[in-house]
Amino acid sequence: GMYLIDQHAAKERVNYEIYREKLGNPCNDFVNLLFPITIELSSDEFIILKENFDVLRNIKIDIDEFGINSVIIKSHPVWLPKGYEEEALRKIIEVVLNKQKDFSIYKFNESIAIMLSCKMSIKANTNITIKEMENLIDDLRQCENPFNCPHGRPTIIFYSLSELEKQFKR
Ligand code: ZN
Ligand code: ZN
Repeated sequence: GMYLIDQHAAKERVNYEIYREKLGNPCNDFVNLLFPITIELSSDEFIILKENFDVLRNIKIDIDEFGINSVIIKSHPVWLPKGYEEEALRKIIEVVLNKQKDFSIYKFNESIAIMLSCKMSIKANTNITIKEMENLIDDLRQCENPFNCPHGRPTIIFYSLSELEKQFKR
């Protein structure tokens, strides 16, 4: 038969299982920033964030108050995507600011893992080499659930030989 694989969804699944594992592991190593990141917030956001510093510190993000309605981040976990650290930190803060009433650490970790896995996946319409395709399929094969992306969309569509023959009126 024939397998059609969605490269974005497939890579998302591979990334998701990696981030989920990292987030679930409390003894993560962290990186001290040479240049700490400061983020300005609205006063409402600042209040919400301040109440949730422990959620961030729990995943090795060293965050503190820094003047009026600003925060400073001095270190972050090693597994943040290279080159996208600040963007990832801002996204993580966004998740905290939008947290729901039924918030739990599990759900928080889950939404961070999904957000990062999408961010770090191959974009649609990006050409990848045969080698990259093979690596992706190998990585997908190692996944606990290779058939869906973390949003629940399929990564693989399968057409059996008989289905294909039927399509060609054989
Ligand atoms: Zn995505
Ligand atoms: Zn997805």
